Amino acid sequence: MPASGTLLSVEGLTKYFGSFAACDGIDLKIAKGEIHALLGENGAGKSTLVKMLFGVLEPSAGQIIWDGTPVTIEAPAHARRLGIGMVFQHFSLFEALTVAENIALSLEPGISLSQIAEEARRLSVEYGLPLDPRAHVADLSVGERQRIEIVRALLQNPKLIILDEPTSVLTPQEADRLFETLNKLRAEGRSVLYISHRLEEVQRICDKATVLRHGKVTGACDPSQETAASLARMMVGGDVSEI
Ligand code: ADP
Ligand code: MG
Repeated sequence: MPASGTLLSVEGLTKYFGSFAACDGIDLKIAKGEIHALLGENGAGKSTLVKMLFGVLEPSAGQIIWDGTPVTIEAPAHARRLGIGMVFQHFSLFEALTVAENIALSLEPGISLSQIAEEARRLSVEYGLPLDPRAHVADLSVGERQRIEIVRALLQNPKLIILDEPTSVLTPQEADRLFETLNKLRAEGRSVLYISHRLEEVQRICDKATVLRHGKVTGACDPSQETAASLARMMVGGDVSEI
């Protein structure tokens, strides 16, 4: 049985950079056990929004309600403690260190490196993301580096995993593998916030979509029930004849 109820609710979330509103009064609800797309063109405000949800950026206005409670997310460590995991578009990994050492850097102290390696290996197998915890990051492909970020997030048993344009660095085969992992997370009752500007993958894997344009929500729908043209219209405005 999928979990039910709202996990995350965002009300009027706004971020100004100087006088420019990158996110302008965004409302969003993510249910438990749902893969929710955040769809929008480059510059729509997708990354800015999720950086506020992960405590990287401080909102200028608005409210984040996590599992029924209004929260101020102070920092990524706070977001992780709440149960939010994040896979960034640009990874921050130390090339000279191993997979397990990189993961250890984001965890609270007190767990040994061999425990981390063992747990990372177990999770990588369980979630279909093959990874050798003792490999050096410098020797890994970009797809493998992304798996480190996902396993790192899974180690903290998140209720919500946010992925920012994850397939932009993947081969089609790696993307298919990732989609299987996301389906498994959903089956476990976890929620996924999946950022993309690729309509076809959003229609294929996501249960809901919130569409952003110029920092505002222009649509909220079940993307599998929409035509590509109607989704594109929400993304880019009235005239979609050129895409
Ligand atoms: P998306 O992820 O949808 O491509 P972003 O959230 O990265 O969009 O950016 C939204 C808008 O905010 C863009 O116009 C971008 O140039 C601007 N922006 C993002 N981060 C900053 C920043 N730190 N300072 C100033 N402007 C920013
Ligand atoms: Mg972005």
